[in-house]
Amino acid sequence: MPNFKNPSPPADGYRGRFAPSPTGPLHAGSLVAALGSWLDARKNHGKWLLRMEDLDTPRNISGADQEILRQLLACGLTWDEEPTWQSKHQERHKKALERLNQLQIIYPCTCSRQGIANALEARGVMTPRNHEMVYPGTCRPHELFSYDEGERSSTEVAWRLALPPGLSIHFEDLALGKQTQDLNREVGDFVLHRRDGIFTYQLAVVVDDAEQGITHIVRGADLLDNTARQIYLQRVLGHKTPSYLHLPLVLDEHGEKLSKQTLASAIHTENAQQALQELRRAARHLGLRDLPDGEETSIAQWLLAATQAWDRKVIFS
Ligand code: GLU
Ligand code: ZN
Repeated sequence: MPNFKNPSPPADGYRGRFAPSPTGPLHAGSLVAALGSWLDARKNHGKWLLRMEDLDTPRNISGADQEILRQLLACGLTWDEEPTWQSKHQERHKKALERLNQLQIIYPCTCSRQGIANALEARGVMTPRNHEMVYPGTCRPHELFSYDEGERSSTEVAWRLALPPGLSIHFEDLALGKQTQDLNREVGDFVLHRRDGIFTYQLAVVVDDAEQGITHIVRGADLLDNTARQIYLQRVLGHKTPSYLHLPLVLDEHGEKLSKQTLASAIHTENAQQALQELRRAARHLGLRDLPDGEETSIAQWLLAATQAWDRKVIFS
């Protein structure tokens, strides 16, 4: 008997997702990403999946995942398949790393942050504080070779992806247009598996998006800078590249992006009125105007109107 409850997606069907890190409850910025990705999926008759990106365990806050689920439900942002937790799928992250090892394009690195900063300084490169440093290739061996399981599981080393020379990645963002990044110059060989044994966001997001058949990635513009890395990883792992749409960030009064670190406050969703108010604020941020603003509007009615009004062209207007 075919299982009609959980049909496998048509090859060309839209599959989107929202992938919050459970480092705290949703704030105004993460609600914009949730609403934007939900509306884009609904407008395109697609599916919207929910994935908790909980691999960076030191940053997880206990109970934040459940709180995020409650907040989304209070806002009427329902998902179409069982939510997943990235930490439950580390076998597939490990497999991907092994595959890259077989391809002989990863190598172990023992550099500390300070070591990298010193190496850059010695070359006359000053990295502004809080900026990601371009890895200078200190540990990159002249000849790459594959490492056996013993070496690979050795602790105290990070594993970096060796980039080929002259690697410029080009892609089209559905809202921002043409994007280009020279990975060697702007990023350098990046880490896939950390010294503390944690798979990095770059690796896990690529593996899980491919595994879940994600066709459209709609997320905050703070992640735009990661996209070229992810596209390159998709290519070496033999995965299709999804479409990308990056949404405007919500900034605080100091011009900083809202985050747990800047102590962004949680959105209020204790009752339907509050949830609707948060949704309206997020929608204005996404360029949506003229949505029903009456007191008597229900969340379901409002979401329907917002879906009809959703337009990628006005997001940055
Ligand atoms: N987990 C990431 C975050 O919360 C988002 C990942 C993504 O959408 O690619 O910032
Ligand atoms: Zn190193």
